[in-house]
Amino acid sequence: MTTALVFHPDFLLHEQSRDHPERRERLSYTIDQIREEGLMHHPAVKVIIPGFASMEAVSRVHHPEYLAFLEHASRTGGFIDFDTNVPPNLLSHALLAAGGAIRAADAVLDGEAENAFALVRPPGHHARPGTGAGFCYLNNMAIMVRHVQQRGLEKVMILDWDAHHGDGTQAFFYEDPSVLFTSIHQSPFYPGSGSIDETGYGPGTGYTANMPVPAGTGDESYTYLLETIIEPFAREFRPDLIAVSAGQDNHFTDPLTGLALTAAGYAGLMKGAVGLARELCEGRLVAILEGGYSVEGGLPYTNLGILAAMAGLDLRSIREPEVYREWLIRVSDPSAHTRVRENAHALRTRLAPYWACFR
Ligand SMILES: [Zn+2]
Repeated sequence: MTTALVFHPDFLLHEQSRDHPERRERLSYTIDQIREEGLMHHPAVKVIIPGFASMEAVSRVHHPEYLAFLEHASRTGGFIDFDTNVPPNLLSHALLAAGGAIRAADAVLDGEAENAFALVRPPGHHARPGTGAGFCYLNNMAIMVRHVQQRGLEKVMILDWDAHHGDGTQAFFYEDPSVLFTSIHQSPFYPGSGSIDETGYGPGTGYTANMPVPAGTGDESYTYLLETIIEPFAREFRPDLIAVSAGQDNHFTDPLTGLALTAAGYAGLMKGAVGLARELCEGRLVAILEGGYSVEGGLPYTNLGILAAMAGLDLRSIREPEVYREWLIRVSDPSAHTRVRENAHALRTRLAPYWACFR
């Protein structure tokens, strides 16, 4: 099995400010770790340098007025929300990230690799048709999904496991039964959406599934949601492609969030997703990096675990350095799992009218 690792050195150019959490070290430390582990030149990993997304691909999902705003603000500087400003050359950096997502999909569709991990920034899942938000400008996931549908695939299942609800991505597909949007995220938390009651609208009713989890949630609960919600749901929906919005801010060392997932937990989640893709859609899986702000203690190990799981490598050595383990004990809340099970039961009840697997 070959996994495409889509990366461009220019993904490091984007910078809102030197102290912004969405900073270039998120990727540079990850790349160093992947290189150190020998995966940049491993026969199971094919490194691909992407190009820019075309305006045609981006215009399939974003409003022309918003793109014109980004173009103008990329010359003059601009502002979207209190933690999302528009630095010089932003549009070019965002188009390269979107191009990374598209190139990852093309690698899979053209048979260059079984699956692909687009290690891009800036991230995208809070970006909506007409605006950016929460460090995001262009929705790389939505652009990639419409691209593969343009190329002939019909049904896409999105698994967004970023610690924040993927409100932007949900907005694109809320009325669309060709895209099953599922999200596991900390709640209550930014951006405030993502309740169990948000299940889609019109023809898309029943095609959105939100799994809010409380602070302190760890590996056991994510495995539980994978096995009891994601897997049966995927088997009934039967996607042509599984797309993972891979936000690594659930890691127990993340400075912005309160979850307790480990690098091994991430690797296990991705192993499950890869297994589903093999079972249902000839292995076609595209993962796109979203958040994750633990530059030293989290991202190098979580991204390594995800890549190793995608490439079918031995996962037993995937773990953070011991020095971080006491953080895990501090952040974990053993009572969170009870709440996760209750929420999962409520979600199954909510979706039962639409899906036999939840009856
Ligand atoms: Zn996030």
